Amino acid sequence: MLLTDNLLLNYLRCSRRSFLNVYGNYLLQDPELDFVRKLRQESMKYSLEVVKSLTPVYDQPQANDLLERAQETTFLMNQGVDYIYNGVLILNNPQTTFIGQPTLLVKQTGYSLLGDWLYAPVNIYLGRRPKFEYKILTTFHSYLLTFSQGILPPKGEIILRPYSLYSLKLAELFPRLQTVVGELMEMLAHKNEPEVFISRQKCSLCNWSSYCKAIAKSEHHLSLIPGVTPHRYQHLQFLGINTVESLAVDTSPELGELVGDEIATQLKLQAKSLVEQSPLRKISNFSPNLPDSPVNLYFDIEAEPDRNLDYLLGVLVIDQSKNTEKFYPFLAEKPEQEAEIWEQFLELVNQYPEAPIFHYSNYERETIKRLAKLYKTPMEQREKVLSRCIDLHHQVINSVILPLESYSLKAIANWLGFTWKIPFARGDQSVYWYDQWLKTGNYTLIEQILSYNQDDCFATYHLKEWLVKFLSENSKLM
Ligand code: SF4
Repeated sequence: MLLTDNLLLNYLRCSRRSFLNVYGNYLLQDPELDFVRKLRQESMKYSLEVVKSLTPVYDQPQANDLLERAQETTFLMNQGVDYIYNGVLILNNPQTTFIGQPTLLVKQTGYSLLGDWLYAPVNIYLGRRPKFEYKILTTFHSYLLTFSQGILPPKGEIILRPYSLYSLKLAELFPRLQTVVGELMEMLAHKNEPEVFISRQKCSLCNWSSYCKAIAKSEHHLSLIPGVTPHRYQHLQFLGINTVESLAVDTSPELGELVGDEIATQLKLQAKSLVEQSPLRKISNFSPNLPDSPVNLYFDIEAEPDRNLDYLLGVLVIDQSKNTEKFYPFLAEKPEQEAEIWEQFLELVNQYPEAPIFHYSNYERETIKRLAKLYKTPMEQREKVLSRCIDLHHQVINSVILPLESYSLKAIANWLGFTWKIPFARGDQSVYWYDQWLKTGNYTLIEQILSYNQDDCFATYHLKEWLVKFLSENSKLM
């Protein structure tokens, strides 16, 4: 059996993913997303930048072949070089070969099989928090080092972004590493395929997404129901509720006792909506806020969180009195133009001081606050704009239950019959396009971003129109 750090990382993120990476049919995988490729390249770039900032001189194995690189790493360790970048550690056990590739091996004072020195691993990650998976991987590298140098490294460290060094308590982490590796090996040895469980965030960037979703759909799997978390799923299984259909017809009080009455009702209605393929009016005291005005604005932002940059503020102006629709894309072709597009945005929305500004997520409100603070917009002006903002996502989730597996704008608008001109466009793809635009200057990429953002604004408009109509036709609470 081959057990690599990459396999371990995937196992920690989703056990099924590591299983499929070993036993799955690669022909059934989705192509890698551009955004995922971008993340990987950025991660490599950031690692190298940090290594260079730590030390101008470092050694690095040169071979392409993993085995040869491991031999080079051993040679460098025996030489006692100070830093080894992208080294390879291999441990051959009778039944398993372990392979680890720490970002950096740093020479320490002390005694080992190598001489009067030894090494400790330092891993560099793009993430901002010291996640459990980072800790376990670094502990795994420490474990492999123990066999190369005959002694446990005195420390293991991770470096995050922005630069921050995090020291691990290896003694506490070793038993947890043993447990995780033991479970992973057991799963692989016995070919125990983990059950599918669709988690929107985790699965959206995974290569097995289409494959797993198809299985979940064929099984009417409960994870397809928005609101069914792994914890709630356990409760449902305990009660013998195993499919969307069985949840839809469940009338027993037990689920309410386990997860709370409000959540139980919500889950059951969501299942009912999916089974009947019909939207439902939600039972609640919530009063929808969907004002109609002669002019309505629909607002959507494209942002690059890593740069803390909002590069496109798109506004669709629907003037019902003049029967016109006009899209205004305020685009920062260069990141430095963010202040400029913020002023342009304010100028436009101030032209229609009575118009509500519809958007789909809390992000737009938070961005208005961020940009107003950053560019010193008077508080009174900021508050006026914020008071006009209406988050349609909040309106939707509090007033209706839709026969959908996701309440994303795209899922809802697609269900309403709206289509995007670029079908595969999505937020992370737009981030990739913008990054490529900055690197290549290819204006086609800007056109794709504008097209996507314009469609997002129109989708928000369609959704609002549908919601107003549905709520007026279903004014009685169910
Ligand atoms: S799509 Fe989701 S469930 Fe399937 S392997 Fe990927 S992360 Fe796991």
